[in-house]
Amino acid sequence: MNLILLGAPGAGKGTQATGLSAILKIPHISTGEIFRDNIRRNTELGKLADTYISKGELVPDEVTVQIVKDRIEQADCENGFILDGFPRTIAQAEMLEEILNASGRKIDRVVNIVIDDEVVINRLSKRIVCPVCGETYHLEFNPAEDNICKKCGAQLVHREDDKPDVIRNRIAAYHKKTEPLVEFYRHKGNLMNVRSENSIEESLQNTLYALGLKGI
Ligand code: ADP
Ligand code: ADP
Ligand code: ZN
Repeated sequence: MNLILLGAPGAGKGTQATGLSAILKIPHISTGEIFRDNIRRNTELGKLADTYISKGELVPDEVTVQIVKDRIEQADCENGFILDGFPRTIAQAEMLEEILNASGRKIDRVVNIVIDDEVVINRLSKRIVCPVCGETYHLEFNPAEDNICKKCGAQLVHREDDKPDVIRNRIAAYHKKTEPLVEFYRHKGNLMNVRSENSIEESLQNTLYALGLKGI
């Protein structure tokens, strides 16, 4: 199954993608995480992406699409993939469609994770992440003992772009550039809305239910 997880910053895309990836055994592809990995390794792509990410702006479409194209052409995506945080603009969605068409593939489902802006702010300001493996936690809702990553043992940190003024820009960018994708995919007929105000586990169950996968 080729899946897209759509939703505002902090909606829970990454968290749900991690759960779905384990259940469906298909890779979780987060463009944000690919950028952060490049920033950590100080690559040319990382330096470029950081100039946008640190301000809460979107990285240009051409750069982002190329990364996704390279990633979904890898062998582990043959049985499907979960896109988290991509596409984020109509132009990205159109380019993705062309790329998939060229290899006889398509997007099967788009899960739109619906959340209010106020909830998002609480989630992002208390989000903590692993600077080594990228695992995501929350100070209240998904804590880690002594703020140590359960997967790799590194000390967890706040993301540089999870600061109030950058969060505001990211939410604005979401409403302006990404939210129109809801209509875009609704027209294509493969969109489903899932609310995620409830706990992480319940939200994942809502998504599985919407995908017709409950009980797996
Ligand atoms: P996104 O990838 O959409 O930006 P994340 O998956 O990183 O969102 O989630 C944002 C923050 O909210 C993280 O700290 C995560 O642990 C927490 N979180 C995710 N889903 C829920 C939920 N259903 N209830 C409470 N907290 C959640
Ligand atoms: P969140 O969902 O919490 O906003 P992400 O990890 O998905 O975080 O993205 C972090 C940042 O990386 C975004 O604010 C943006 O600057 C950049 N980014 C990620 N994905 C894209 C994309 N598809 N197009 C443009 N920029 C992106
Ligand atoms: Zn880790």
